[in-house]
Amino acid sequence: MTTAYQLPAFIGGTKQNLIGGRWVSAASGETIDVINPATGSSLGAIAAGGAADVDAAVRAARTAFEGEWSRWTPHQRRKLLLKVHDVVLDHFDELALIETLDMGAPLARTSGLREWTSQVLQFFAGQTGAATVATAPNSLPGDFLTLKSLEPVGVVGGIIPWNGPLIGLWWIFGPALATGCTAVLKPAEDASLSVLRIAELLTEAGVPDGVINVVTGYGKDAGSALAEHHGVDRIAFTGSVGTARSIVRASAGNMKRLQMELGGKSPDIVFADADLDLAVPGAAMGVYTNSGQVCVAGTRIFVQRPVHDEFVERLGEFTKTVRVGNGLDPETQIGPLISARQLERVQHYIEVGSGEARLVAGGSRLTGDHAGGYYIEPTVFAGATNDMTIAQEEIFGPVATVIPFDDMDEAVRLANATPYGLAGGLWTRNVSTAHKVSRAIDAGTVWVNCYGVLDPAIGFGGTKMSGYGWKGAREHVESYLYPKAVYMNL
Ligand code: NAD
Repeated sequence: MTTAYQLPAFIGGTKQNLIGGRWVSAASGETIDVINPATGSSLGAIAAGGAADVDAAVRAARTAFEGEWSRWTPHQRRKLLLKVHDVVLDHFDELALIETLDMGAPLARTSGLREWTSQVLQFFAGQTGAATVATAPNSLPGDFLTLKSLEPVGVVGGIIPWNGPLIGLWWIFGPALATGCTAVLKPAEDASLSVLRIAELLTEAGVPDGVINVVTGYGKDAGSALAEHHGVDRIAFTGSVGTARSIVRASAGNMKRLQMELGGKSPDIVFADADLDLAVPGAAMGVYTNSGQVCVAGTRIFVQRPVHDEFVERLGEFTKTVRVGNGLDPETQIGPLISARQLERVQHYIEVGSGEARLVAGGSRLTGDHAGGYYIEPTVFAGATNDMTIAQEEIFGPVATVIPFDDMDEAVRLANATPYGLAGGLWTRNVSTAHKVSRAIDAGTVWVNCYGVLDPAIGFGGTKMSGYGWKGAREHVESYLYPKAVYMNL
């Protein structure tokens, strides 16, 4: 049963871009339809921005950067971020509903981001002192006074995916507002509405014109124009490896600083001494959360042989109880996939998996009342090996692949036998196993007896083909700054 919700007034019509404090249509006049993935019905349209719109936004961001903004004091910036915090939290029910309608995640999940959003904004509000200037000791002869400062890098281009815009945008706006940078954000063409609503709220909270700009559009148009633009000093990208490669090439013209948060094929290792009452639902939801459209999804579940068969049976049973449906239904645990294209992609991998391994649960598209949306059952494959396609390629759907192992060395070897290095998990009661294996996994984040926990003050990033650059923590803020030395011969 879907509870009746009043559609937010924001939903519907054609949205414009925010450039230099003004809402404007795409220069081409073209738009992109916004589809509700739960029903396949229209939610209106967004602007199909392109190179001209990106150019206008970058110029506005440059003007704002060169004005008063980059000289605001830490105190002024902290006050602004705390005001943004309050305004955004006051509107959080509406934002969660917009996100659910736009990208399908259950309302329970999007509403649950309230506390995280509060933490992330408070974290960045606490970082406004990072842009500093201080005298530095020197070893020069004579009467030299040396100063070292951290200066904002300038205009930041943000490019984010559709799987969690309500999270992704703060990783750009947060450090930009904390350091005195300005930003042009290009959200994903499949999920831009919550970003546009937040852009309105930022203006309401008093963010000066041009400091935050949003240009919606396709990656090949607006995205590549942002990556190429010589007025952009830094690109913060979250998305797939293929797109990252083209951004790295496009950004070479003016040597942009890059932050790359890319895909994953994360291992989740269940040792024989694990508490299976925790490990079964924990590992399952480590894959199924957000319909598997999570970069850190622990999609390769390695299970030690003594508990392998029991684990597979329990995982299959658990999977059949997971409620798939419209995100507006309070009972729903996982919503639809983002688009017809994504559904097709996941179905393709399920077909490949059925030829490679044994299908234990799921595998089908939902029909009947759900036929209009892009729903797929959570799916388990067992009897798999780590070299199979379903164990090597990022599916970005609720598909778990279970692979047996014998001992710790084999588990670590298999876990690391992937081009990715974003995250990993392990389940054990043995402290020594927890310590050794968590150190040995090549990944930016490892969870022990839990999965998916994220603290903005600790941060998050990847290694290998999962990218580089750290989101959250002091490192993130400092990557929006560059160090400068001043030598004064007095
Ligand atoms: P994608 O790479 O197709 O798109 C991401 C963004 O890049 C979108 O805004 C898109 O419009 C834009 N884009 C596409 N082509 C472009 C181009 N040529 N130049 C510039 N921009 C372009 O990725 P996706 O399918 O939307 O998202 C899923 C991917 O994102 C997965 O690989 C997932 O693992 C990854 N992801 C990573 C993290 C992380 O923090 N590591 C978080 C979420 C998602």
